[in-house]
Amino acid sequence: MTRAERATSDVAIVGCGPVGALLANLLGRAGLAVDIYDREREIHPLPRAVHFDGEVMRIFQSAGLAEKIAAVVRASSRGMHFVNGEGRTLMIRRGIDGPGPHGWAGNWYFHQPILERILRNGLARFPNVRVHLGHEVASVDDLDTRYVVGCDGARSLVRQAVGSRHVDLGLHQPWLVVDLLCDPANPRVQALPDHTIQLCDPARPMTVVNVGGERRRWEIMLMPGDDPARLTEPAIFWPMMARWLGPDDARLERAAVYTFHSVVQEGWRKGRLLLAGDSCHQTPPFLGQGMCSGMRDAANLAWKLAAIVKEGASDTLLDTCESERLPHVHTFIELAVRLGAVLQETDRAAAAARDRRFEAGAEMFDYPQPQLGPGCRIDAPPPVGTVFPQPRLPDGRLMDEAIGQRFAVVGDADIVVGFHGDAVLLPDVGRDWCERHNIRAAILRPDRYIYAVGRDRQELEAATLGLARSFGLACSRPSRP
Ligand SMILES: Cc1cc2nc3c(=O)[nH]c(=O)nc-3n(C[C@H](O)[C@H](O)[C@H](O)COP(=O)(O)OP(=O)(O)OC[C@H]3O[C@@H](n4cnc5c(N)ncnc54)[C@H](O)[C@@H]3O)c2cc1C
Repeated sequence: MTRAERATSDVAIVGCGPVGALLANLLGRAGLAVDIYDREREIHPLPRAVHFDGEVMRIFQSAGLAEKIAAVVRASSRGMHFVNGEGRTLMIRRGIDGPGPHGWAGNWYFHQPILERILRNGLARFPNVRVHLGHEVASVDDLDTRYVVGCDGARSLVRQAVGSRHVDLGLHQPWLVVDLLCDPANPRVQALPDHTIQLCDPARPMTVVNVGGERRRWEIMLMPGDDPARLTEPAIFWPMMARWLGPDDARLERAAVYTFHSVVQEGWRKGRLLLAGDSCHQTPPFLGQGMCSGMRDAANLAWKLAAIVKEGASDTLLDTCESERLPHVHTFIELAVRLGAVLQETDRAAAAARDRRFEAGAEMFDYPQPQLGPGCRIDAPPPVGTVFPQPRLPDGRLMDEAIGQRFAVVGDADIVVGFHGDAVLLPDVGRDWCERHNIRAAILRPDRYIYAVGRDRQELEAATLGLARSFGLACSRPSRP
């Protein structure tokens, strides 16, 4: 009997951290038989991530968990301010007022164990998902399943089996992470800013984050001469934070040293083995985007696995995960590394020269909106390969609610109505957006990235022939003559 014949599930996920748990929810919702394993029984109690963006909230929506998650996280319309040692603002990552392009606030702050609890509880909705906690996967050969996805973090076992090539993007720096529980009635706590501060002080770079509720986080760069073993001692780190709070103002939840890395792996697939999340990329957290990138991997992978298992699409579709996602994640890591160079400058003369560069005023920037690399999209410049926004429909629902896990055609009703195929047709939805981009309609993939755009129906339908030819995906039938 071959392994495929022996397979007891469609997909085995190694690692039930945030990325694995989200992937299992997405696959569970699509009706696939999933086994998910984690060596630990309990959710990791020490949070690492504190922020996710509006696109990730939209992915939670597609997992049917957005409302539950929105109830326990903090939406922020404030940006991230890079401030020098004298308190002058050098750069600002803009905030977004109200719902952003994804139909949700653009930035969310959270306590990671609470988010992970919701993701894990979400799995109980699916009899087709079996959760194996306290189960360390010792070898991928032990997994009788059609596909294995390594969501097993930075020291991934699955990555070793894939044999990926490690590409070092240059930044490796230890930082101390201090999480505090603060009394909201305390005047010093009330005086803390709501926005995130990146303190670009050459004497001691730091990050200060309002996580939400009573939680605040300080991330403090280790300087030459620091003893990492002693830095977690309250007597050592409290004086570093004295300008904001002291030990009488807050309780310590934890203090731990992490080394921030900037690394990508080349080779995300070998046969039935695939990678997602920290197993295939790691970024310094200066943009709060490491987990977010892993969540995007999960969304990219989930609809492709579902199309293969449920609709008989070609499994070459899985080769497009790396070709699409690697350039995308690379853009975020490169920006985080550049921001790290601004923040982590400890040479006083170089820091003064840096500050002079921003003398004319603070530089404003947004998250990048990279195009997916080549893969399951037509070969054309953006907006093809970028994520389509999520407007509200006239009936008040968010657009994705009307689409589910399908392809969709949006834009000018004259083109959308009469499109031949089994895509969801949404006439006049996103029409303004299309006009602004000088197109009339767009075909969206199930992960809402734009597969093709066009000025007439024939152009769009011709584009879908590639889907059938390359991947066996039937989202449109050829036009009648
Ligand atoms: C200080 C800090 C701050 C950060 N802040 C942010 C932020 O604000 N926003 C953001 O988006 N990202 C942030 N990140 C990055 C983010 O924490 C990670 O990208 C994210 O946790 C990766 O999730 P993952 O599921 O891929 O891997 P992990 O969270 O590492 O999960 C891997 C899981 O696999 C399990 N496992 C491993 N091997 C096996 C095996 N052989 N068998 C069974 N189970 C196994 C582990 O037990 C673990 O549960 C931050 C990181 C740090 C260090």
